[in-house]
Amino acid sequence: MTELTGLSTTGRVATPNDSDWDAARAAWNLAADQQPRAVAFVEGADDVAAVVRFAAEEGLQVAGQGTGHGAVALGPLDDAILIKTERMRAVDVDADARTARVEAGALAQELGEAAQEHGLCSLPGSSPDVGVVGYTLGGGLNWLGRRYGFACNRVNAIDLVTAGGEARRVDAETDADLFWALRGGGGGYAIVTALHLDLVPIAELYAGALLLPAELGADAVRAYRDWATDVPDEVTSIVRFLHLPPIPEVPEPLRDRPLLTIGAACIGSQAEGEETIAPLRELGEPIMDTFGQIPAAGLNRVHMDPEQPVPGLGHHELIRELSDDAIDAFVGAAGPESGSPLLLAELRQLGGALGRPAEGAGALSHLDAAFVMLGVGLPMTPEMGEAIDRHLDDLHETMAPWGAEGGYFNFAERPGEVETILPPETCARLGEVKRRWDPEGMIQANHAVSPALA
Ligand SMILES: Cc1cc2nc3c(=O)[nH]c(=O)nc-3n(C[C@H](O)[C@H](O)[C@H](O)COP(=O)(O)OP(=O)(O)OC[C@H]3O[C@@H](n4cnc5c(N)ncnc54)[C@H](O)[C@@H]3O)c2cc1C
Repeated sequence: MTELTGLSTTGRVATPNDSDWDAARAAWNLAADQQPRAVAFVEGADDVAAVVRFAAEEGLQVAGQGTGHGAVALGPLDDAILIKTERMRAVDVDADARTARVEAGALAQELGEAAQEHGLCSLPGSSPDVGVVGYTLGGGLNWLGRRYGFACNRVNAIDLVTAGGEARRVDAETDADLFWALRGGGGGYAIVTALHLDLVPIAELYAGALLLPAELGADAVRAYRDWATDVPDEVTSIVRFLHLPPIPEVPEPLRDRPLLTIGAACIGSQAEGEETIAPLRELGEPIMDTFGQIPAAGLNRVHMDPEQPVPGLGHHELIRELSDDAIDAFVGAAGPESGSPLLLAELRQLGGALGRPAEGAGALSHLDAAFVMLGVGLPMTPEMGEAIDRHLDDLHETMAPWGAEGGYFNFAERPGEVETILPPETCARLGEVKRRWDPEGMIQANHAVSPALA
């Protein structure tokens, strides 16, 4: 029985004694079986501070969670109160300043639509219902990334509650070390209550995807690679093998057949976009072509990511160089002949501003790699989970000869040490921030940093 006597919040606090406990503790990623001591559905910074202070007095830990997209990486919560921020959804756009204040539970699509009303755009990734805060704290690899860099480096201030239970606003001048750590180092240093973001002046752009038969194979991936090497920073793209399940929600022509998809966002006019994409249209007759001039908020849906909770297991690798050999290896392990049990295996294009040191950067400045590879499977049964994990390991091993050092925080979906993701000097600096702001290790997070790393 969880005793929570003395914890007073505006929002609800759920415990294992509640009849809806399983729903209360569930994460967006249904593969995560979270078992915290309690779940606090906070409604503001005062609630967060009350939960953090209560946890400290009781010798418990806390963990922040917006949606649970990253919940598999979070690890055990046996002695933690899970702070769910889904009731804190306000998004306030200042059109003149081109900024937004985004509360901790707001979703990417909600931010995108609020910015769109003012002819502005956030830096969205592929998922409409990912949490803006978790996505941004882990970097924020996005459709405009080669032009504007990682989303974390367009944060100008952060409202948070410290491990000591104190509400503060941090920025480049005030508590600059904490501000630095949270921008790309994940959420292990404080509980964020809101982000202040710079928006970009894009109202619409040319974006979409070609869905092609996967049988086009290595030749098409090589042609894509050559095309991607030449495009300007205004273009960011993703190529992937995709095998959608045989369920009615999937349109019939795409159901249960191996696909090769090439998605891209091209900043500029329709005519410029059409010209940029033209060489890709020559690869073969598409099963579907979704390219067009779209409102910027539509970027969230270009990749057609699921918009409801699903179970997912993933693994990733940074790819130094996508040589012909690397493409053959990738197609062999993930293409139509591979027998892969994965939903998808993709290569997301880096380079441009994603590969250059960002001005005033946080813990993630840029990535020194050409692509990031991500594999994801849907484990509907434990047996499928085992087969998926084995295949993810094989894919990782197959691509290792072309792998770059380190990883990308947000795609590190397995629980694991931050030292395998971020460079040693970044980890040491993060360790110092942890030692200063959370010496007792109160705040749990995916890929948490220990003060001992300092
Ligand atoms: C379908 C899908 C598509 C994705 N696409 C992209 C993409 O295009 N680009 C990209 O970069 N990533 C992408 N990701 C990865 C995603 O950004 C990470 O999983 C991210 O952590 C999710 O944030 P969340 O808040 O939704 O998830 P959560 O699981 O709620 O949060 C993840 C972590 O963020 C921290 N956190 C969240 N809220 C708070 C808070 N209030 N205070 C302190 N810490 C907090 C915690 O450490 C938490 O464990 C994708 C993931 C999925 C499942």
